[in-house]
Formats: sequence, structure tokens, C-alpha cells
Amino acid sequence: MMHTKTVAEMANDLAAKKYSSVELTTHFLNRIEHYGENLNSFITVTKEQALAAAKHADVQRQAGKAGPLTGIPMAQKDIFCTKGVKTSCGSKMLDNFISPYDATLIERCNQAGLVMLGKANMDEFAMGSSNENSYYGPVKNPWDLTRVPGGSSGGSAAAVAARLAPIATGTDTGGSIRQPAALCNLTGIKPTYGRVSRYGMIAFASSLDQGGIFGVNAEDAALLLNVIAGFDEKDSTSADMPVPDYRKTLNDSLTGLRIGVPKEYFAEGLNSQVADCIHEAIKTYEKLGAVIKEISLPHTNMSIPAYYVIAPAECSSNLSRYDGVRYGYRCEKPKDLIDLYKRTRSEGFGKEVKRRIMIGTYALSAGYYDAYYLKAQQIRQLIRQDFVEAFKEVDVILGPTTPDTAFKIGEKADDPVSMYLSDIYTISVNLAGLPGISAPAGFVNNLPVGMQLIGHDFSEAKLLNVVHQYQQHTDWHKRMPEGF
Ligand code: GLN
Repeated sequence: MMHTKTVAEMANDLAAKKYSSVELTTHFLNRIEHYGENLNSFITVTKEQALAAAKHADVQRQAGKAGPLTGIPMAQKDIFCTKGVKTSCGSKMLDNFISPYDATLIERCNQAGLVMLGKANMDEFAMGSSNENSYYGPVKNPWDLTRVPGGSSGGSAAAVAARLAPIATGTDTGGSIRQPAALCNLTGIKPTYGRVSRYGMIAFASSLDQGGIFGVNAEDAALLLNVIAGFDEKDSTSADMPVPDYRKTLNDSLTGLRIGVPKEYFAEGLNSQVADCIHEAIKTYEKLGAVIKEISLPHTNMSIPAYYVIAPAECSSNLSRYDGVRYGYRCEKPKDLIDLYKRTRSEGFGKEVKRRIMIGTYALSAGYYDAYYLKAQQIRQLIRQDFVEAFKEVDVILGPTTPDTAFKIGEKADDPVSMYLSDIYTISVNLAGLPGISAPAGFVNNLPVGMQLIGHDFSEAKLLNVVHQYQQHTDWHKRMPEGF
């Protein structure tokens, strides 16, 4: 069964000509056709383009021009602009938007010979933690179809979890890769801010947004990070730093690795069975030679309030471009310019997006700017400082990714604050600009539990190494949901 293999195995099979990219791609397209609609994990399936790209990949291989991932199928979150293909960002506002250009990430995947199967469902403009905010409807969690896959990159996560795609991209502004990875039993990495180009990635909160990956394991994530990481002159915040081969250091020994466990991540609100799984993981790391140290990140409880000022502030500015004038949705028969703006935006945006725009506009308005936005920026510095202090004593930080397992569809839909709290352990990482990774660490009532590892700036290779070593000694990441 081709789809039960890892990307690394598929790449070997393609190189050994056990099957062609056309065969592999067709297999995944068939799976999408069979299971995709029920899960609602794709907004657009690009069948014809995928088959053409697969054919091209096979020709390249025949000509001896294949790279490590040539011919491997993948899913792209619908937040990345794809030339000639609808790029909706999960919104009615962009339901009719065909991008005239490729995002840098897409361009790099194409150049590497990867085959795009389609565009994955997501919360509207990446705002959400459950994928219930998509204009295209909620995505279901393959582990339990009555539950959410997490968000905002829920379509990508559900697709990989059900093996409708072997690997996928996501974006993470406050947890949108790590949280769905945890709820769907995947390895999800959010690189350091600036590691992956944001050019052509539709902006939500520009100082926090970062593209990354969902894979079945750390090795697959390393393979794709090799493709998408790196400087891009089209993104002024992109880091001009060399990109290591992330696969090379996966087998480094963990002897002497100092792992910090923040006491604030095990406080009230954490499901005790989730906590048990993380404590088991800690024991595994001790067996692997790591040294565990309790640490403190004292400003953790301020991360959500600070984020819900900064992210809405930036979104209110970023989303002002959707005015019905240049591209995207336009209301019917506007009476005048103000009517055009008003009705386009009222009809084109969903409830959560409007809520954020209003909060952000309020926080940035004269008279409130100092009290809210400036204060939140100061807290952001304190949060970053907590991590800087911690990394003087430890190499990586370990804790749960989420306080609980996947919740029911509809359970938190009318309670935004409880929804916001599901990102309590992930959000501070974005505020600090650090890399974070979530990996499978057990099950509670047959639902996946994720552990999160946080590293210092540009320590992606270390994080992948630390997860890969764990995955050599555990089987959680190999479990697949039944019925797919
Ligand atoms: N759940 C958070 C929010 O709603 C984070 C989303 C994200 O990382 N894109 O803003």
C-alpha cells in the first residue's frame, strides 16, 4: 500500500523505479476522491495539473535529473498563492480569486519536483483553532469524525492523518501547525520567524506568520524543510542565513541534551491524562541520555492576552486591502463607494474575521494605542526574554502542545475565549519568533496527544533530531486512524 509509506520510503521507491510518480499521484488522487469529501480536507483538488506534474517528474527522473523529492505528491494550504489555481484562504472574500503568481514556497516545491494534489481547507484567513471558521465548512478529524482536526491548518492535518497526501504545508501564527498536528497524530514544525519566505503567503499577522510542514514523522518534515527553507529577497523579513541539510543531523546522539520542562505548562487547565503522556515522553528522553531540568517561563499566562491584541491589530491592517475594488469579492450593485466598501466587507468576511478586525481597529485607534497595542508589545518582549533566560540553561524546552485532545465540532464554536485558550502553549513561541515542533506522544481515549519541543532561533535541525530520536524508540507516530 503506497499511502502507508513515509515520504522517505516513497522517494526510495521512486528512485528504485518500483512505481512511477504518475502511479503514486493517481493513488493519492483516488484516495482524495474516495475520502476527501467526507473529511472536507480540500477546497480545490488539482487533478489535471497533478497528473501533468507527475508525468513531468517521471520524465525528469528518466533523464537522470531527479532530486530527492521529485515526483512526491503533497497538499498545499490554501493560504499560499498558486498561479492559475483558486487561492481562497478559506474565505468567501477570495472565493473567486485565481492567483496570477506563485508564492515562493510553492515555487520551491515545484522546482523540487513535488506534485501538488490540491489546496487544503483552513480557517478563514487562518483565524481559528478548529477549522470551523472556513467558508467551505468544517473539516473532520480522521480519528473521530465528530471532532475537530484543529486549526487553522486543519485541512492539511486531516489530509495527512488520513493519508490523502503524504505531506503538507501549513502556516502558524499562534499554533496553527503544532495544534492540528497534535490533534491529528502528526509531526508539525513551525520554523523560526523568517526561516521560510512569506512572499505569496496571504498575510494574517505579519510579525507572527510562518510557513511550515505536516509530516508523518520528523524525517519527512526534514526532507520538505530542506526544500522550503531559505532566504528570499522578495520577503524583507526573510532570514539571510545558510540552510543546513536537516536530514544529516537526525541521528545525532541525545546524550547530555538539556531539556527544560516549564512548570507553567503543567498548571491548571491541562488534562491530567495528557500530562501523563508528556511525563512518559520525558522518561523516554531520560533513557536516551537527556538531562531534565524544571524551568520557569513566568509570563506564559500573558501570552494569550498579548496575542489577541497584536494579531488582531496586524490583521485589521492587512485585511484592509479587501475592499471590493481590486480583486476578490464585490457586493452586487453598490450605490456609492462607501456602500461598496461596507457591503463587500460585511458580506465577504465571516464572523471571526470581523471580530478580529473590530478588536484590532479598536486597539490601534488614537487614545487606546498606548493602553493596548504598546502594552502588548512590551509583554511580547518579556515573553521573549523568558525564553532567552531559559535557553541559557537548557537546549530545548518540552511540554504538551495543547491542554486537551481534539474537541467536538461545535463544542467551542460560541465561546471564542475557550477556543483561544486551546493555544495557550503554542502562542508564546510565535510572539518570541522561535521554532517549535509538535510530535505524537500517546493517546487518551483513542485520541492523539502531542508533545511540543521549542528551540532557540534557527535550531530546527536540533528539534528535528530530538523528535527523530524519540521516534526511533516509540511507535505513536506510526498509528493510523481506522477506516482510511
Ligand atoms: N488559533 C490562533 C488564532 O486563531 C492561531 C491561528 C494561527 O496560528 N494561524 O489566531
